[in-house]
Amino acid sequence: EVAAESPLLQHLNPEQRAAVTLPDEHALILAGAGSGKTRVLTTRIAWLLSQGRIGPGNVLAVTFTNKAAKEMMTRLGAMLPVNVRGMWIGTFHGLCNRFLRAHWKLANLPSTFQILDTQDQLSAIKRVMKANNVDDERFPAKELQWFISGCKEDGLRPNMVEVRGEEDRRKVEIYQLYEDQCQREGVVDFGELMLRSYELLRDNDPIREHYRRRFRHILIDEFQDTNKLQYAWIKVLAGEGNSVFAVGDDDQSIYAFRGARVGNMADFVREFNVQHQIKLEQNYRSYSNILDSANELISHNRNRLGKNLRTDQGAGEPVRVYEAPTDMAEAQWMVEEVRHLVRDDVPKSEIAVLYRSNAQSRVIETGLFNAGVPYRVYGGLRFFERAEIKHALAYLRLLENPNDDTSFLRVVNFPPRGIGARSVEQLQDAAKATGSSLHDAVHKTTGKAGTNLAAFVAKIDRMREETQGLTLREIIDVMLQQSGLIDHYKAEREGAERIENLEELVNAAESFVTQEGFGRDAVALPIDEHGSTMLRQSPSSQGLDPSLPEINEPAPDYVPPDADTGETLSPLAAFLTHAALESGDNQAQAGQEAVQLMTVHSAKGLEFDVVFVTGLEEGLFPSERSLADYEGLEEERRLMYVAITRARKRLYLSHSQTRLLHGQTRYNVKSRFFDELPEHALKWLTPKNQSFGGSAFGFGMGYPTTRSTSYKSSETFASPEVPPQKAAPAHGLKPGMKVFHTKFGEGKVQLLEGSGDDARAKIAFPRHGEKWLALSVAKLTPVD
Ligand code: ATP
Ligand code: MG
Repeated sequence: EVAAESPLLQHLNPEQRAAVTLPDEHALILAGAGSGKTRVLTTRIAWLLSQGRIGPGNVLAVTFTNKAAKEMMTRLGAMLPVNVRGMWIGTFHGLCNRFLRAHWKLANLPSTFQILDTQDQLSAIKRVMKANNVDDERFPAKELQWFISGCKEDGLRPNMVEVRGEEDRRKVEIYQLYEDQCQREGVVDFGELMLRSYELLRDNDPIREHYRRRFRHILIDEFQDTNKLQYAWIKVLAGEGNSVFAVGDDDQSIYAFRGARVGNMADFVREFNVQHQIKLEQNYRSYSNILDSANELISHNRNRLGKNLRTDQGAGEPVRVYEAPTDMAEAQWMVEEVRHLVRDDVPKSEIAVLYRSNAQSRVIETGLFNAGVPYRVYGGLRFFERAEIKHALAYLRLLENPNDDTSFLRVVNFPPRGIGARSVEQLQDAAKATGSSLHDAVHKTTGKAGTNLAAFVAKIDRMREETQGLTLREIIDVMLQQSGLIDHYKAEREGAERIENLEELVNAAESFVTQEGFGRDAVALPIDEHGSTMLRQSPSSQGLDPSLPEINEPAPDYVPPDADTGETLSPLAAFLTHAALESGDNQAQAGQEAVQLMTVHSAKGLEFDVVFVTGLEEGLFPSERSLADYEGLEEERRLMYVAITRARKRLYLSHSQTRLLHGQTRYNVKSRFFDELPEHALKWLTPKNQSFGGSAFGFGMGYPTTRSTSYKSSETFASPEVPPQKAAPAHGLKPGMKVFHTKFGEGKVQLLEGSGDDARAKIAFPRHGEKWLALSVAKLTPVD
């Protein structure tokens, strides 16, 4: 058979090959971790293109992260002589952004619309609440954010939300007010990117027809984690004639808490009348001890579509299990193991340390830091989310769009220029009265406040004029100087690091420019190149090998109303978009020679030679909240399945009897998941049921543990909290003790004051002097 001879298919097993070469129909590839789903999806794109019946413009592929999209493009580029840059491969958010940039007018957005990341969204909601006197005790901003995002993920506009009772009514009202504000300011949040492109596709016949004709093949990775709106988006885009190729693993569905519907898989099979379902059961990633553990664990879930995994790789090393008396001891043990591995030439970037919640990373970081092992944390505060970077971005956004009130408020008095809260309120009232942006309302304010505000606006407007025609780098340089940010941080005692980050922003812009091909002469680019509409290209300019059969791209006989009109997006606007989308992506960057630290959620789709899964304790993993219901527990088990299946060669599982979390020492029993693993695959590095006396804890507290050495999984294990302020304060600090602070480094406790939430400590840091720190918030770890 001709297909089988294609060199693209050489590195595939028969099932994978069958999946790659399926006819143009809807298909579902349902398969376990490491069975090559992502490889199959990428190869299918290459195969389709190599057949010559479609061009790169006819493919739309959805990946889970921006990084995965880049990887896919690199792979495709290596497999085929094709220009992958113009292809529609990206995350749902990235693709919707691209779509809306092309059709901003029809989508009723300004051409320079900005994207709110999660933080910006929260502050925008807080502003709505303040302007409308919403009681934040009754309606906490975070809850409203959750509510609004949830509505959007379900495709619901305020008028479509079912209201039950007064509280709902008020929430929906706030949702509407928030929508109005975003519209006025020309900003969209992540959910809006998705919802608005969906609505445009649904309601605008010519646009929909155009894209349906264009995207003959729609391919989606990690399908199990799509939400309702994403599913609807796929459906409206696919129409009748196109092929949807979905790959996923129901056992790895871990975003139900954020609206993902594993039920989309069954719906897909039914609603799309899927004829081709393929299962892949051969795992290429892990040795069988690791795989057996994963299989056995997940078999405890009841709600499964059912499939298994096997490997030809042999048993490999046993899964190592370690029990520590304290979280610090756990970290120290882990650091020791890491050092051994590194000495044995395991690349640091091939070692991952996974945990259930971000708060757990601190003690691990401390350990690695003290041992001088380079590490990188993912999913914490990312570069584009740091305060100084957000300030700088706010200035840049105001240059693009003066009506962006979120940015206006962020920097109107930063660096401080004598504009107080009262003046800002006055301005907000004026803006509200005239229905204008803050920028436009400034001339309505009077007195000293008015003068200061006018000076600020004049500064921004002047900056905008002066940066016309400059390169992105030059724009940022001018902004950093003229905004006063650099001078401000120079004068600050701990400003050096912030200035370094601001300089890093210049570098980020520089590499963005290089990657995206913005040169000095190319101040503006056709929309297509960095995330908007397509450029119609001749087949040869698409970079296809001329020896391949001719491409029958559908004739571009219809040009959607506002696409392809030579609209351009400035490098600055493109960079700001990039910054917003990056901040929503919490996955690792490749190629760093450092140990990789991340939550299990952000490890999805990745693989490492060595994996540590730490903090396997009841109440932590599985998490406390999940224990309330059976479904929650099943999701935790899937999360554990994801964690285990990241490992290629060696897997460590560890837990600790006590853990200092959120300022309190907790006594934990080991996770029930240990009882769900096959004994033959495990090796206990510490005696299986050892018990430590309370005095061995290192924090000097003699509370007896209540841990039991064996239990049935039907019992509940709420961890007993430390009694408040009896024998020793919960933080366990004593004067003279050495502690580590993530920002100030190592220091010595001088004095302790207060108790509970009010406890404070005076600490002397060699490099930063003496500081009073509130123990409920400061990140301090005792150092022995
Ligand atoms: P996950 O569920 O974790 O996303 P996956 O099913 O997408 O996993 P891949 O990441 O595509 O799996 O593949 C897992 C590993 O196995 C990769 O390193 C991949 O290169 C390798 N692999 C896949 N198929 C084969 C094959 N036929 N021969 C050799 N290696 C393969
Ligand atoms: Mg994958």
